[in-house]
Order: sequence, then structure tokens, then C-alpha cells
Amino acid sequence: MHYTGTIWRPPYEASSLLLEVTAGCTHHKCKFCTLYHDLPFKFRMSPVKDIESDLQEAQLWSTDPISMLTARLQGISRPERIRRVFLTGANPFVLKYERLMAIAGLIHQYVPSVKTIGCFSRITDVMLKSDEELASLRQAGYDGLTIGIETGDDEALQFMNKGYAAADIVKQCRRLDRAGIHYSFFYLASISGAGRGEIGAKATADVCNQLHPVRIGINMLTIYPESELYQEIQRGNWKEESEIEKYKEIRALLEHLEIPAQFAALGASNAFLFQGTLPEDREALIAALNKIIETVKEDDLREYRVNLRHL
Ligand code: SF4
Repeated sequence: MHYTGTIWRPPYEASSLLLEVTAGCTHHKCKFCTLYHDLPFKFRMSPVKDIESDLQEAQLWSTDPISMLTARLQGISRPERIRRVFLTGANPFVLKYERLMAIAGLIHQYVPSVKTIGCFSRITDVMLKSDEELASLRQAGYDGLTIGIETGDDEALQFMNKGYAAADIVKQCRRLDRAGIHYSFFYLASISGAGRGEIGAKATADVCNQLHPVRIGINMLTIYPESELYQEIQRGNWKEESEIEKYKEIRALLEHLEIPAQFAALGASNAFLFQGTLPEDREALIAALNKIIETVKEDDLREYRVNLRHL
């Protein structure tokens, strides 16, 4: 398989086939982000021949009699049929409709057991597709996009150079709803800055409450010296929330969400991992956050953050 640089995928895509169709990010301007800094380029599309050869390799895993015999002799279970593909890169959904359709065609040709295709998407990537194209992409298997909206707080979105506003999130995700393409969000606690955490949480709940995200995943801002945000802090233009304020912010988000959704904090940026289903687990999740807020010391949480070498 061709994999370039660090490969990022959401926790719930652990059993999906990771197929590299892009590397890097077309936007590359969010002030807090250092995710694709290890690549020598900003963004690259994979050559079709590489995608095809990776799919041929994946096809062999689950259908090749020798692979199956080897697995049996080694006492490991028979390779599972591949049901889902996750396209890698920061925003493969930016690819032109025709290319996404061609990739779906190759996936179904080589691995016919695949039912759905997911990937990360930016809100601006959805804007590039017509309603008819979105419907047709859904028919071709695209479903379960993961969108790092980060927040519904316009002030924070603008300062961090996300490249869209809260109204764009609502407009574009409604288009996904109409096309039948499901999506999950990532929220970035502390993106609104010190003293504004709960404002950002409420603005985000307002956005989410108009939409139908399957999941809302929580990441916590972790600032690395290579980021532009670090420079902004040095210049005195921005201040990070305390670790405790980040937990209060997540609690405020939970308190204001009115939609059914999975809610989870599972990535490395979270010192405490938790997950549940809304609305039924809301009180238990809030109780867990209250316990952290009341009993865990700011210094201990900070120590976790500063020792986090990599997300
Ligand atoms: S946060 Fe996402 S969209 Fe923004 S620069 Fe990083 S990878 Fe690209």
C-alpha cells in the first residue's frame, strides 16, 4: 500500500480499508494546525495507477486462496471482507466530482464487497459540488464524511483562518442531509480562546441543533511551536484557555445540544476519554466532566498537554 507521511483517521474508521487518494491539505491555513507539516508539499493527488495497485493488493487480502491458507496455517482468523473504505488525506472530498466517481468505480471493481466510502471533508469541499453531484456521489457509495467544523463561533473561525463561517456549516450540511450523505463533526475545545469557551460551545450547539451529525467528536487544542497560533500567542494577540476551562466548555456544549448524536472524546488530545449517546447519556457525561472539573488539578492536566509530543 502507498502511504505518505502520518496517516490520520477517526477512531471509528479503525476497521475501514485506508486508501490513499490524496496526501496533505488543500487549505493548509488554520493557525492552530500542524497536522500535515511532515510532508514536503501542501497537497497531492495520488496517481490513479497507485490507487489501482493498492486496491489490487487489498483484493488479494480477502480473496486470494494462498492468503487464506497462510492465515489458516498461522492460526489467525480468515481475512474479513472489506465493507468500508476510508480515503486518506486531510480533505479528499475536495477532489472533482469526476475523480471521486472514478475512484468509487475502481473501489467497486476491485473490492465489490465495499458498501460505503468515507473521508475527511472541509465545508468548502461540499460547496464545490452541485446537489445532483452530491446525490450521485451518495449513489456511488460516499457516506459518513468526517468534518472538522471545530466550532460554530464565527469570531474564532475567522481568527483561526478556517475559511468558512457558521452559516456555511449549516448551509452545506443541510445539502448533505438532502443528498442522504451522513456526516460526523469534530469540535475543537479552546478554539475560542481564554474566557470565551462557553460562548464558543453555545454557538456550536446552535449550529449542531440545526443539523444531523451522527457523531460529535471532541479534540482539545494542543499548541505546538511550529503553528502560527503559537506566534500569535507570543505577539500577545491570543490567549489559550486553561485546561479546566476546556472541560467547562465541553460541559456547556453537552448542556446545549438538543439533537440525538454519539458524543465522544477519544483522541490523544483528551487526557480523559469518554463517550456516550445523546440524549440518554447526557447526565452521566456531565457528571463525569463535573468530577474532572472539581477534583483534577489544572497543573496535572497542563502537564499532560505539554508532554503530548504528537497528536
Ligand atoms: S485543520 Fe484541517 S483544514 Fe485546517 S489546515 Fe489543518 S488539515 Fe487543513
